[in-house]
Amino acid sequence: MGQSGDSRIKLFGSRVAVPKKKMSKSRVRMRRSHDHLKPVGVTICNVCANSCLPHHICKFCNTYNGRNIRATASEAADSNQD
Ligand SMILES: [Zn+2]
Repeated sequence: MGQSGDSRIKLFGSRVAVPKKKMSKSRVRMRRSHDHLKPVGVTICNVCANSCLPHHICKFCNTYNGRNIRATASEAADSNQD
């Protein structure tokens, strides 16, 4: 009783931004027209023919552009002993 104005303004003891006008469905939907994920680009590995991300090492055969990049765990252990 006796309160005047929008109660949201005094929310949490501080001033909060309150929209001046209702946003129409059209405006909201126009804004949200861009709210979507892009499809992920996929390329085919030259070595193993699995699908992999472009400009990334193939996770199935550890090659990039036909070259072996990552040594396997056993090969890495062998190289450390040398
Ligand atoms: Zn591959």
